[in-house]
Amino acid sequence: MAVERTLSMVKPDGVERNLIGEVLARFERAGLRIVALRMARLSLADAQAFYGVHRERPFFQSLCNYMSSGPIVAFVLEGDGAIAKAREVMGATDPAKAATGTIRRDFALSIERNTVHGSDARETAAFEIGFHFSGLNLYAR
Ligand code: UDP
Ligand code: MG
Repeated sequence: MAVERTLSMVKPDGVERNLIGEVLARFERAGLRIVALRMARLSLADAQAFYGVHRERPFFQSLCNYMSSGPIVAFVLEGDGAIAKAREVMGATDPAKAATGTIRRDFALSIERNTVHGSDARETAAFEIGFHFSGLNLYAR
């Protein structure tokens, strides 16, 4: 399997409940390496740009308000098949449908406040990594 990089975030509900370390630990225990990390507060415009692919969806406005309501921690994970592996560790978007032992099953408050973000494909990972980290700041193997 190819070495990939994926962009993940601890969302505001996770930061608020002191779950940063717990979320990072779950990815590390799954064998993924953290190769970049920063805390930030997204403006509403930042959140709208980050989630631009969802701009026509009914949940878009509420999602962007929520994602700009408090700090997030953005990080880049690296490893074999990192994009799919990170999504496995996260669990399904809706915590009621997330598998046992996943971050969202264990910690999500709702389908919106679901604690963690993860890129869903190589193209979105490249966009999302570039959104949070400039090429100059990104650690290179
Ligand atoms: N979301 C929501 N309601 C929905 C679907 C999604 O509030 O019905 C939010 C949720 O926070 C989700 C984010 O929008 O994580 C992005 O949605 P996506 O379908 O990309 O889910 P993900 O890739 O995060 O599992
Ligand atoms: Mg998604």
